[in-house]
Amino acid sequence: MSKVNPDFLSEIKKYGGVDFSACYNCGNCTAVCSLSTPEYSFPRMMVRASVVGLEDKITSSLDPWLCYYCGECSLSCPRQANPGELMMALRRWLTAKYDWTGLSGLLYKFLPATIIAFVITALAVIGVAAHYNFELEPIMHFGHLFEFFAILTVFLVILLPNLVRMWYFLVLKPGKKVTLKSYLISFGDLFVHMFTQKRTLGCDDSRTRWLEHMILVLGYLSLLFTTVVLDWFRAESIFIIALGYLVSIVVFVDTFLFVRGRMKKNRENNKFSQPSDWLFVIWLFLLGFTAFIVRLFVDLNLIENNLWLYLVHMIVLVQWALLIVPFGKWTHFLYRSFAMYFEKVFETEKALQKQKK
Ligand code: SF4
Ligand code: SF4
Repeated sequence: MSKVNPDFLSEIKKYGGVDFSACYNCGNCTAVCSLSTPEYSFPRMMVRASVVGLEDKITSSLDPWLCYYCGECSLSCPRQANPGELMMALRRWLTAKYDWTGLSGLLYKFLPATIIAFVITALAVIGVAAHYNFELEPIMHFGHLFEFFAILTVFLVILLPNLVRMWYFLVLKPGKKVTLKSYLISFGDLFVHMFTQKRTLGCDDSRTRWLEHMILVLGYLSLLFTTVVLDWFRAESIFIIALGYLVSIVVFVDTFLFVRGRMKKNRENNKFSQPSDWLFVIWLFLLGFTAFIVRLFVDLNLIENNLWLYLVHMIVLVQWALLIVPFGKWTHFLYRSFAMYFEKVFETEKALQKQKK
Protein backbone atom coordinates (compact mmCIF):
# COMPACT_ATOMS: atom_id res chain seq x y z
CA MET A 1 0.00 0.00 0.00
CA SER A 2 1.32 3.44 -0.96
CA LYS A 3 2.32 5.78 1.85
CA VAL A 4 0.49 9.13 1.86
CA ASN A 5 2.40 12.28 2.79
CA PRO A 6 -0.14 14.92 3.87
CA ASP A 7 2.56 17.62 3.70
CA PHE A 8 3.55 16.86 0.12
CA LEU A 9 1.99 20.06 -1.25
CA SER A 10 4.01 22.30 1.08
CA GLU A 11 7.12 20.15 0.50
CA ILE A 12 6.92 20.37 -3.29
CA LYS A 13 6.30 24.13 -3.12
CA LYS A 14 9.80 24.46 -1.67
CA TYR A 15 11.03 22.95 -4.95
CA GLY A 16 9.13 25.50 -7.02
CA GLY A 17 5.76 23.80 -7.45
CA VAL A 18 2.84 26.16 -7.86
CA ASP A 19 -0.61 25.47 -6.45
CA PHE A 20 -1.44 22.22 -8.21
CA SER A 21 -4.09 21.41 -5.57
CA ALA A 22 -6.42 23.62 -7.66
CA CYS A 23 -6.62 20.71 -10.15
CA TYR A 24 -10.18 19.41 -10.51
CA ASN A 25 -9.23 16.50 -12.72
CA CYS A 26 -10.77 17.79 -15.95
CA GLY A 27 -8.23 16.02 -18.17
CA ASN A 28 -7.39 18.94 -20.48
CA CYS A 29 -3.68 18.50 -19.77
CA THR A 30 -3.86 14.85 -20.76
CA ALA A 31 -5.72 15.70 -23.94
CA VAL A 32 -2.97 18.05 -25.16
CA CYS A 33 0.14 16.23 -23.91
CA SER A 34 1.97 14.37 -26.66
CA LEU A 35 3.20 11.79 -24.13
CA SER A 36 -0.30 10.77 -23.17
CA THR A 37 -1.73 7.50 -24.56
CA PRO A 38 -5.21 5.95 -24.40
CA GLU A 39 -3.87 3.63 -21.69
CA TYR A 40 -1.88 6.19 -19.74
CA SER A 41 -2.98 9.59 -18.53
CA PHE A 42 0.06 11.87 -18.77
CA PRO A 43 0.64 14.20 -16.83
CA ARG A 44 -2.67 13.86 -14.92
CA MET A 45 -1.47 10.71 -13.16
CA MET A 46 1.40 12.65 -11.58
CA VAL A 47 -0.87 15.60 -10.73
CA ARG A 48 -3.26 13.25 -8.90
CA ALA A 49 -0.43 11.46 -7.11
CA SER A 50 0.96 14.85 -6.01
CA VAL A 51 -2.40 16.17 -4.83
CA VAL A 52 -2.92 13.02 -2.73
CA GLY A 53 0.74 12.92 -1.60
CA LEU A 54 1.56 9.46 -2.94
CA GLU A 55 5.33 9.75 -2.67
CA ASP A 56 6.09 6.12 -3.54
CA LYS A 57 4.05 6.40 -6.73
CA ILE A 58 6.13 9.39 -7.76
CA THR A 59 9.54 7.95 -6.84
CA SER A 60 8.73 4.75 -8.75
CA SER A 61 7.62 6.68 -11.84
CA LEU A 62 9.62 7.86 -14.83
CA ASP A 63 7.00 10.46 -15.81
CA PRO A 64 8.68 13.60 -14.45
CA TRP A 65 11.81 12.78 -16.45
CA LEU A 66 9.99 11.92 -19.66
CA CYS A 67 8.39 15.38 -19.81
CA TYR A 68 10.55 17.97 -21.59
CA TYR A 69 8.42 20.89 -20.43
CA CYS A 70 6.79 22.18 -23.58
CA GLY A 71 4.19 23.84 -21.35
CA GLU A 72 1.15 22.87 -23.47
CA CYS A 73 -0.57 21.31 -20.46
CA SER A 74 -0.16 24.46 -18.35
CA LEU A 75 -1.58 26.59 -21.15
CA SER A 76 -4.65 24.39 -21.40
CA CYS A 77 -5.32 24.11 -17.66
CA PRO A 78 -8.49 26.01 -16.70
CA ARG A 79 -7.45 26.09 -13.02
CA GLN A 80 -3.91 27.46 -13.39
CA ALA A 81 -2.67 24.34 -11.64
CA ASN A 82 0.39 24.50 -13.92
CA PRO A 83 1.02 20.78 -14.44
CA GLY A 84 4.12 21.54 -16.56
CA GLU A 85 5.70 23.46 -13.69
CA LEU A 86 4.67 20.71 -11.28
CA MET A 87 6.60 18.20 -13.40
CA MET A 88 9.62 20.50 -13.19
CA ALA A 89 9.29 20.76 -9.40
CA LEU A 90 8.96 16.95 -9.20
CA ARG A 91 12.24 16.60 -11.11
CA ARG A 92 13.96 18.80 -8.52
CA TRP A 93 12.34 16.86 -5.69
CA LEU A 94 13.42 13.53 -7.24
CA THR A 95 16.96 14.84 -7.65
CA ALA A 96 17.00 15.50 -3.91
CA LYS A 97 15.52 12.04 -3.25
CA TYR A 98 18.22 10.29 -5.29
CA ASP A 99 21.05 12.29 -3.72
CA TRP A 100 22.51 10.28 -0.83
CA THR A 101 24.35 13.29 0.62
CA GLY A 102 21.18 15.34 1.17
CA LEU A 103 22.97 18.41 -0.23
CA SER A 104 20.76 18.67 -3.32
CA GLY A 105 17.65 19.16 -1.18
CA LEU A 106 19.44 21.67 1.04
CA LEU A 107 20.67 23.75 -1.92
CA TYR A 108 17.31 23.61 -3.71
CA LYS A 109 15.29 24.60 -0.67
CA PHE A 110 17.53 27.18 1.03
CA LEU A 111 19.03 29.88 -1.13
CA PRO A 112 21.31 31.13 1.70
CA ALA A 113 22.92 27.64 1.79
CA THR A 114 23.64 27.95 -1.95
CA ILE A 115 25.15 31.41 -1.50
CA ILE A 116 27.34 30.23 1.40
CA ALA A 117 28.54 27.22 -0.65
CA PHE A 118 29.42 29.50 -3.59
CA VAL A 119 31.33 31.90 -1.32
CA ILE A 120 33.26 29.05 0.36
CA THR A 121 34.33 27.59 -3.01
CA ALA A 122 35.45 31.03 -4.25
CA LEU A 123 37.54 31.55 -1.10
CA ALA A 124 39.03 28.06 -1.50
CA VAL A 125 40.24 28.93 -5.02
CA ILE A 126 41.83 32.15 -3.77
CA GLY A 127 43.41 30.15 -0.94
CA VAL A 128 44.95 27.70 -3.42
CA ALA A 129 46.26 30.61 -5.53
CA ALA A 130 47.83 32.15 -2.42
CA HIS A 131 49.42 28.78 -1.63
CA TYR A 132 51.12 28.95 -5.05
CA ASN A 133 52.17 32.60 -4.44
CA PHE A 134 49.83 33.73 -7.21
CA GLU A 135 52.13 32.28 -9.88
CA LEU A 136 50.36 31.46 -13.11
CA GLU A 137 52.07 28.22 -14.18
CA PRO A 138 51.58 26.14 -10.97
CA ILE A 139 48.02 27.48 -10.60
CA MET A 140 47.20 26.49 -14.19
CA HIS A 141 48.74 23.09 -13.61
CA PHE A 142 46.64 22.71 -10.48
CA GLY A 143 43.54 23.85 -12.41
CA HIS A 144 44.08 21.21 -15.04
CA LEU A 145 44.56 18.45 -12.45
CA PHE A 146 41.52 19.69 -10.57
CA GLU A 147 39.30 19.33 -13.65
CA PHE A 148 40.36 15.74 -14.13
CA PHE A 149 40.09 14.63 -10.50
CA ALA A 150 36.90 16.61 -9.82
CA ILE A 151 35.10 14.88 -12.69
CA LEU A 152 36.30 11.46 -11.57
CA THR A 153 35.51 12.00 -7.89
CA VAL A 154 32.11 13.63 -8.45
CA PHE A 155 31.13 10.78 -10.74
CA LEU A 156 32.35 7.95 -8.48
CA VAL A 157 31.39 9.40 -5.11
CA ILE A 158 28.17 11.30 -5.86
CA LEU A 159 26.63 10.58 -9.27
CA LEU A 160 27.17 6.84 -9.51
CA PRO A 161 25.67 6.06 -6.06
CA ASN A 162 22.79 8.43 -6.91
CA LEU A 163 22.13 6.55 -10.13
CA VAL A 164 22.05 3.33 -8.13
CA ARG A 165 19.49 4.99 -5.84
CA MET A 166 17.45 6.03 -8.88
CA TRP A 167 17.45 2.40 -10.02
CA TYR A 168 16.49 1.33 -6.47
CA PHE A 169 13.45 3.63 -6.45
CA LEU A 170 12.39 2.66 -9.96
CA VAL A 171 13.06 -1.07 -10.02
CA LEU A 172 14.04 -2.67 -6.73
CA LYS A 173 11.69 -0.94 -4.30
CA PRO A 174 8.51 -1.44 -6.39
CA GLY A 175 9.59 -5.06 -7.01
CA LYS A 176 9.85 -4.85 -10.82
CA LYS A 177 11.36 -7.93 -12.44
CA VAL A 178 13.92 -6.99 -15.08
CA THR A 179 16.36 -9.41 -16.68
CA LEU A 180 19.98 -8.59 -17.45
CA LYS A 181 19.22 -9.14 -21.13
CA SER A 182 16.83 -6.17 -21.16
CA TYR A 183 19.44 -3.90 -19.60
CA LEU A 184 22.03 -4.97 -22.17
CA ILE A 185 19.80 -4.80 -25.25
CA SER A 186 18.63 -1.28 -24.32
CA PHE A 187 22.04 0.15 -23.44
CA GLY A 188 22.51 1.98 -26.75
CA ASP A 189 19.44 4.11 -26.04
CA LEU A 190 21.19 5.70 -23.09
CA PHE A 191 23.81 7.30 -25.34
CA VAL A 192 21.38 8.14 -28.13
CA HIS A 193 19.24 10.17 -25.72
CA MET A 194 22.22 11.61 -23.89
CA PHE A 195 23.85 13.02 -27.03
CA THR A 196 20.86 13.81 -29.24
CA GLN A 197 18.24 14.91 -26.68
CA LYS A 198 15.78 13.50 -29.19
CA ARG A 199 12.88 13.24 -26.72
CA THR A 200 12.52 17.05 -26.96
CA LEU A 201 11.24 16.50 -30.49
CA GLY A 202 8.39 14.27 -29.35
CA CYS A 203 7.46 16.68 -26.61
CA ASP A 204 7.39 19.91 -28.52
CA ASP A 205 6.30 21.13 -31.91
CA SER A 206 9.26 23.42 -32.19
CA ARG A 207 12.52 22.03 -33.60
CA THR A 208 14.33 25.14 -32.39
CA ARG A 209 14.17 24.04 -28.78
CA TRP A 210 15.52 20.60 -29.63
CA LEU A 211 18.37 22.17 -31.62
CA GLU A 212 19.21 24.55 -28.76
CA HIS A 213 19.35 21.63 -26.32
CA MET A 214 21.40 19.40 -28.59
CA ILE A 215 23.88 22.16 -29.46
CA LEU A 216 24.27 22.98 -25.77
CA VAL A 217 24.93 19.37 -24.80
CA LEU A 218 27.40 18.76 -27.64
CA GLY A 219 29.11 22.14 -27.09
CA TYR A 220 29.44 21.55 -23.36
CA LEU A 221 30.80 18.00 -23.75
CA SER A 222 33.26 19.19 -26.43
CA LEU A 223 34.45 22.04 -24.19
CA LEU A 224 34.96 19.53 -21.40
CA PHE A 225 36.94 17.26 -23.69
CA THR A 226 39.02 20.15 -25.07
CA THR A 227 40.00 21.55 -21.68
CA VAL A 228 40.29 18.34 -19.64
CA VAL A 229 41.76 15.91 -22.17
CA LEU A 230 43.46 18.26 -24.66
CA ASP A 231 44.60 20.81 -22.02
CA TRP A 232 43.40 23.70 -24.20
CA PHE A 233 44.81 26.58 -22.12
CA ARG A 234 48.37 25.26 -22.44
CA ALA A 235 48.03 23.60 -25.85
CA GLU A 236 50.17 24.73 -28.77
CA SER A 237 48.50 22.85 -31.59
CA ILE A 238 46.54 25.19 -33.86
CA PHE A 239 43.85 22.55 -34.23
CA ILE A 240 43.24 22.27 -30.46
CA ILE A 241 43.34 26.05 -30.01
CA ALA A 242 40.81 26.62 -32.81
CA LEU A 243 38.59 23.82 -31.52
CA GLY A 244 38.61 25.32 -28.03
CA TYR A 245 37.62 28.75 -29.34
CA LEU A 246 34.85 27.26 -31.43
CA VAL A 247 33.26 25.17 -28.68
CA SER A 248 33.56 27.89 -26.02
CA ILE A 249 31.79 30.33 -28.38
CA VAL A 250 29.07 27.73 -29.00
CA VAL A 251 28.56 27.31 -25.24
CA PHE A 252 28.38 30.97 -24.30
CA VAL A 253 26.29 32.06 -27.29
CA ASP A 254 23.79 29.22 -26.78
CA THR A 255 23.54 29.85 -23.03
CA PHE A 256 23.18 33.59 -23.66
CA LEU A 257 20.06 32.74 -25.71
CA PHE A 258 18.77 30.59 -22.84
CA VAL A 259 19.35 33.43 -20.33
CA ARG A 260 17.64 35.93 -22.64
CA GLY A 261 14.66 33.57 -23.07
CA ARG A 262 14.30 33.24 -19.28
CA MET A 263 14.48 37.01 -18.83
CA LYS A 264 11.90 37.63 -21.53
CA LYS A 265 9.74 34.69 -20.31
CA ASN A 266 9.11 34.15 -24.01
CA ARG A 267 7.89 30.56 -23.64
CA GLU A 268 5.65 28.74 -21.22
CA ASN A 269 8.62 26.81 -19.83
CA ASN A 270 10.47 30.07 -19.09
CA LYS A 271 7.74 31.63 -17.01
CA PHE A 272 8.81 30.20 -13.67
CA SER A 273 12.53 30.31 -12.99
CA GLN A 274 13.98 29.00 -9.76
CA PRO A 275 17.45 30.04 -8.50
CA SER A 276 18.75 26.64 -9.66
CA ASP A 277 17.58 27.39 -13.25
CA TRP A 278 19.34 30.76 -13.26
CA LEU A 279 22.52 29.35 -11.74
CA PHE A 280 22.67 26.61 -14.35
CA VAL A 281 22.42 28.85 -17.42
CA ILE A 282 24.45 31.76 -16.03
CA TRP A 283 27.29 29.57 -14.79
CA LEU A 284 27.42 27.65 -18.04
CA PHE A 285 27.57 30.96 -19.89
CA LEU A 286 30.37 32.16 -17.59
CA LEU A 287 32.20 28.88 -18.04
CA GLY A 288 32.31 29.24 -21.83
CA PHE A 289 32.91 33.00 -21.76
CA THR A 290 35.74 33.04 -19.19
CA ALA A 291 37.41 30.05 -20.89
CA PHE A 292 37.33 31.98 -24.20
CA ILE A 293 38.78 35.15 -22.61
CA VAL A 294 41.51 33.24 -20.76
CA ARG A 295 42.70 31.52 -23.95
CA LEU A 296 42.55 34.84 -25.82
CA PHE A 297 44.76 36.43 -23.16
CA VAL A 298 47.15 33.46 -23.39
CA ASP A 299 47.43 34.01 -27.16
CA LEU A 300 47.98 37.76 -26.70
CA ASN A 301 50.63 37.09 -24.03
CA LEU A 302 48.60 39.09 -21.54
CA ILE A 303 47.65 36.36 -19.11
CA GLU A 304 50.81 36.63 -16.92
CA ASN A 305 49.80 40.17 -15.92
CA ASN A 306 46.12 39.31 -15.63
CA LEU A 307 46.14 36.27 -13.40
CA TRP A 308 42.83 37.43 -11.90
CA LEU A 309 41.14 36.40 -15.16
CA TYR A 310 42.26 32.81 -14.77
CA LEU A 311 41.20 32.90 -11.11
CA VAL A 312 37.71 34.08 -12.08
CA HIS A 313 37.53 31.20 -14.55
CA MET A 314 38.73 28.77 -11.87
CA ILE A 315 36.13 30.02 -9.36
CA VAL A 316 33.35 29.55 -11.92
CA LEU A 317 34.71 26.13 -12.84
CA VAL A 318 35.02 24.92 -9.23
CA GLN A 319 31.51 26.11 -8.36
CA TRP A 320 30.19 24.43 -11.49
CA ALA A 321 32.04 21.15 -10.91
CA LEU A 322 31.46 20.84 -7.15
CA LEU A 323 28.01 22.37 -6.74
CA ILE A 324 25.97 22.63 -9.92
CA VAL A 325 27.06 19.33 -11.52
CA PRO A 326 26.60 16.99 -8.54
CA PHE A 327 23.74 18.78 -6.72
CA GLY A 328 22.09 21.24 -9.10
CA LYS A 329 20.27 21.30 -12.38
CA TRP A 330 23.06 19.59 -14.32
CA THR A 331 21.94 16.27 -12.80
CA HIS A 332 18.69 16.57 -14.76
CA PHE A 333 20.67 15.88 -17.92
CA LEU A 334 22.01 12.66 -16.40
CA TYR A 335 18.81 11.41 -14.77
CA ARG A 336 16.76 12.23 -17.83
CA SER A 337 19.08 10.22 -20.07
CA PHE A 338 18.90 7.30 -17.65
CA ALA A 339 15.12 7.65 -17.43
CA MET A 340 14.90 7.23 -21.23
CA TYR A 341 17.15 4.21 -20.87
CA PHE A 342 14.98 2.69 -18.12
CA GLU A 343 11.89 3.34 -20.22
CA LYS A 344 13.47 1.34 -23.03
CA VAL A 345 14.54 -1.38 -20.56
CA PHE A 346 10.96 -1.77 -19.31
CA GLU A 347 9.60 -1.88 -22.88
CA THR A 348 12.20 -4.49 -23.86
CA GLU A 349 11.39 -6.58 -20.80
CA LYS A 350 7.70 -6.48 -21.67
CA ALA A 351 8.43 -7.58 -25.25
CA LEU A 352 10.68 -10.43 -24.04
CA GLN A 353 8.02 -11.64 -21.61
CA LYS A 354 5.44 -11.58 -24.42
CA GLN A 355 7.70 -13.67 -26.65
CA LYS A 356 8.08 -16.27 -23.91
CA LYS A 357 4.32 -16.76 -23.60
S1 SF4 B 1 -5.86 20.56 -16.98
FE1 SF4 B 1 -5.48 21.39 -14.93
S2 SF4 B 1 -7.36 21.05 -13.79
FE2 SF4 B 1 -7.46 19.76 -15.63
S3 SF4 B 1 -6.63 17.76 -14.96
FE3 SF4 B 1 -4.91 18.91 -15.80
S4 SF4 B 1 -4.01 19.95 -14.03
FE4 SF4 B 1 -6.04 19.29 -13.42
S1 SF4 C 1 4.98 20.05 -20.27
FE1 SF4 C 1 4.46 19.14 -22.27
S2 SF4 C 1 5.33 17.07 -22.15
FE2 SF4 C 1 5.31 17.88 -20.08
S3 SF4 C 1 3.44 17.10 -19.23
FE3 SF4 C 1 2.98 19.14 -20.04
S4 SF4 C 1 2.26 18.81 -22.13
FE4 SF4 C 1 3.23 16.92 -21.45
